[in-house]
Amino acid sequence: MTGVSSPVRWRLGAVLEVIEETPHAKTIVLDVPDWPGHVAGQHVDIRLTAEDGYQTERSYSIGSPPEQSTVELTVERIDDGEVSPYLTEELRSGDELELRGPIGGYFNWRHEDGGPLLLIAGGSGLVPLMAMPGIEPPTRAPSTRDCSCRPARSRTCCIAKSSGSSQQETG
Ligand SMILES: Cc1cc2nc3c(=O)[nH]c(=O)nc-3n(C[C@H](O)[C@H](O)[C@H](O)COP(=O)(O)OP(=O)(O)OC[C@H]3O[C@@H](n4cnc5c(N)ncnc54)[C@H](O)[C@@H]3O)c2cc1C
Repeated sequence: MTGVSSPVRWRLGAVLEVIEETPHAKTIVLDVPDWPGHVAGQHVDIRLTAEDGYQTERSYSIGSPPEQSTVELTVERIDDGEVSPYLTEELRSGDELELRGPIGGYFNWRHEDGGPLLLIAGGSGLVPLMAMPGIEPPTRAPSTRDCSCRPARSRTCCIAKSSGSSQQETG
C-alpha cells in the first residue's frame, strides 16, 4: 500500500546528499528509515527546532518517483525566508532532518491513471511533477516527455507528456 493512507508520524531522515540544481535551488536526498512509500504529488512537512526549543514547519513536495528508495526534496531559496535559506545553504550531508509524510491526496497521478497529460508548473511547483512516473528518463516508461524549461530566474517551466516521439529541451 502506498503512503496515501499511512499514518503520518514524525521521522528522522538522514541527509545523504545536497545537490545544487540552480543558483537558487537545491535537491536534498534523504534516507528515511521505515518510509511507507508515496504517490507522485504528495509532500512532506519539515520541522526545524532551534537550540532554544523554537520550532517551525514548512511543506515540501516529494520530487523522487515512488519506486525510488530515497526521498528527494527540491527547495528554492527565498532570501528573506525563515526555513528555505537553512535548507539550501546550511544543511549538509550527514545531518538529520525531521519530517512527516507523505501527506496529500489531492493532486496525485499514477501510471495506470493513463494519459495523455499536460502538466504545467512554475518555480518550485515543478517538483511534484518530477515524481510522476513517466516524467523521467523516457526509457523508464512507454510514454514520452517533452520538457521546455527556461532558466531558473524566469521561474517558468512547462512539461507536456503524451505518447509519441521523445524530446527534451532545456534552456
Ligand atoms: C504543499 C506545499 C508544497 C510545497 N513544495 C515546495 C517545494 O517543493 N519546494 C519549495 O521550495 N517550496 C515548496 N513549498 C513552499 C515552502 O513550504 C515554503 O513556503 C518556502 O520554502 C518558504 O519558506 P521560508 O521559511 O523560507 O519563507 P517564509 O519565512 O515562510 O517567508 C516566505 C515569504 O513570506 C514573507 N513573509 C513571511 N511572514 C510574513 C508576514 N507575517 N507578513 C508578510 N510577509 C511575510 C517573507 O518575507 C518571505 O518573502 C511548498 C508549500 C506547500 C504548501
